[in-house]
Amino acid sequence: MKISKKMALLFTLISLIIITFISGLVQNRIQKSQILEDKIIQRNILKLHNIIDFNSEYLKKIAYEFQENERLRDIINKSDHAQLKTYFSDSNLMEELNISNFLIFDKDKKFLFGKSYDISSNEMLSVSTELINFIKTKDIKKYINKKKEIFYMTTDYEKSIFDIKEIKNRNTQTIGYIYFSRAIDSHFLSNISDVLQEYVSLINSVDFDKFNTIKNKKLNIKYKTVNVDENYLFTYVRYFDEFENKNFYFSIKSKRYIYQELKSNMNFILYCVSICFLLIIMIFYIFIKIFFSDRIIKISNKVKKISENNNLEIIIKDNYDDEISFLAKKLNEMLLSIDIKQHEKLKKERDFLKSVLDTQQNIIMITQGDKIQSVNKKFVDTFTSEDNFLSNIVLVDNNTQKNLLNIAQYYSSKNIPAKFQIMGDDNFYFTFDVSKLDMGKYLICMNDVSTLNKKISHLEVKASIDGLTKIFNKVAIKDMCEVWIDTKEFHLLVLDIDFFKKINDTYGHLCGDYILKDAINNIRKIISKKDYIGRIGGEEFMILLDEKNKENAINIAQRIRQNIENTIFDYGNNLLKITISIGVAKNILNKDTYETIYERADKALYKAKDEGRNRVIYEKEE
Ligand code: GH3
Ligand code: MG
Ligand code: MG
Repeated sequence: MKISKKMALLFTLISLIIITFISGLVQNRIQKSQILEDKIIQRNILKLHNIIDFNSEYLKKIAYEFQENERLRDIINKSDHAQLKTYFSDSNLMEELNISNFLIFDKDKKFLFGKSYDISSNEMLSVSTELINFIKTKDIKKYINKKKEIFYMTTDYEKSIFDIKEIKNRNTQTIGYIYFSRAIDSHFLSNISDVLQEYVSLINSVDFDKFNTIKNKKLNIKYKTVNVDENYLFTYVRYFDEFENKNFYFSIKSKRYIYQELKSNMNFILYCVSICFLLIIMIFYIFIKIFFSDRIIKISNKVKKISENNNLEIIIKDNYDDEISFLAKKLNEMLLSIDIKQHEKLKKERDFLKSVLDTQQNIIMITQGDKIQSVNKKFVDTFTSEDNFLSNIVLVDNNTQKNLLNIAQYYSSKNIPAKFQIMGDDNFYFTFDVSKLDMGKYLICMNDVSTLNKKISHLEVKASIDGLTKIFNKVAIKDMCEVWIDTKEFHLLVLDIDFFKKINDTYGHLCGDYILKDAINNIRKIISKKDYIGRIGGEEFMILLDEKNKENAINIAQRIRQNIENTIFDYGNNLLKITISIGVAKNILNKDTYETIYERADKALYKAKDEGRNRVIYEKEE
């Protein structure tokens, strides 16, 4: 795995771990906010309790006031109903005292007098029989003289707090009981809600049984908190209903300000810390990338390049002043020293190879195509300079514009020598041999074949000349005829000396040879330089006449014939005369071959012989 990838992976991992850790921490803090919430809830419960306690104390005070009233004691002592009614005739009493019920009983708990009042509708009601029965049947002693306790009961579906006091005469004998209660109506609850700044209501039953406890001096308040959602929670504070003989609950619906505030704060902190951390990580990453990893990657890439290209001259650059740049510097020095040593070794090898090439008698050069890279001694000896050689190549390549390598390959593949002119001297001929080397280089080997070539061309000329008459022999004249036959219109003349056998027979072969040579000399003077003459048999000759006009051709043939006829050959003491017969034919372009045109000329010659010799016959035209 590459350094950059490893680094990216490491930093991502660190970021993930730290951010997970921080978010875990934040979540934990948010959870802890419930402790705070719980404290606030406990404070609210105590407040609620205090409000109710205050109301209860108030009831107790009113009860005490009436308990101590002398006149009321007298009336109760006498159980005088009419007097009681007159005594409590003030209808505003209930409203002024803000109470719901007050009831008076005699010592045997017999109901004497009572009043009920609906605080919210401001109406006087009849006294509830349920309430009277409750006092009658209960052992009311347990509610009397108990300080600090708050008692609750439900009559006619209305929950209220109450207090009962004993009324005693001067001899401290019980003469009756007085009962006061205050309904926990909507007014009461909304007052509590106002003080607590939370919504308070009454609940008859709940589904859970485990409660928390607030222990404060004599207090022992049971409560339970239930989270409704992220915005609200409910707290149920447990109390006991004396009449129903079971628990009931004050419920406080609280808005979770703390939780929400803390949560949003914590999330903001998480967000800020994460951003800061990511920034730090990024800066750290960039710092490491720029000052360490990028430089190491750069050095590694350079080393890779050096090993791929096998080029030790590449320099590793690093402009800082630390351990990495020290390494780069040392690496450069090492590469340089290796390079120098390699160069020395290579130079020795090159010098050796050059000395080997210099001993060669062939011209040797190394090229990459058009430019010469190195040459041997023979090259310098032959051409003096590369320019001289290349100007010759340009001459050779005058028409094709090929480069040096192409020319060498062309002549090598055709196996023919190329013509050079060295310093205005005679023509030189060189053969080429091309070998492919490594790294796109080629070795061109040139052989001077000028002497050999001259010898060959001399031999070639020699081979095409007739020994006796010094004109072309049959093979050579036939070759020329084949070159002409499709390239231009011309006339072919076939000549035969008449009765030549007789000359030989009469004067001998040497005489015959002499006449042959002399006659040919005469004929060569008549024909033009553009025409060719060759010997095709013993006393038989062929002329390629560069003349397409029939009349002109016949005229030349007649002049030849007349010249021979009029010539007196002087051999020793003998003066001799001969005649010749000539057959003439014209080539048909792209149709004739040597054989066909020769056949027509020979036929004409035959006809000339047949018709009496010493004449020119033109081929029979169809
Ligand atoms: P015609 O008019 O029919 O051509 O008669 P001719 O005698 O010329 O023809 P023929 O073919 O019978 O004889 C040709 C003679 O030419 C035969 C030979 O003795 C002679 N001859 C051929 N070559 C040479 C040569 O190189 N030197 C000499 N001296 N004579 C030659
Ligand atoms: Mg003859
Ligand atoms: Mg003949």
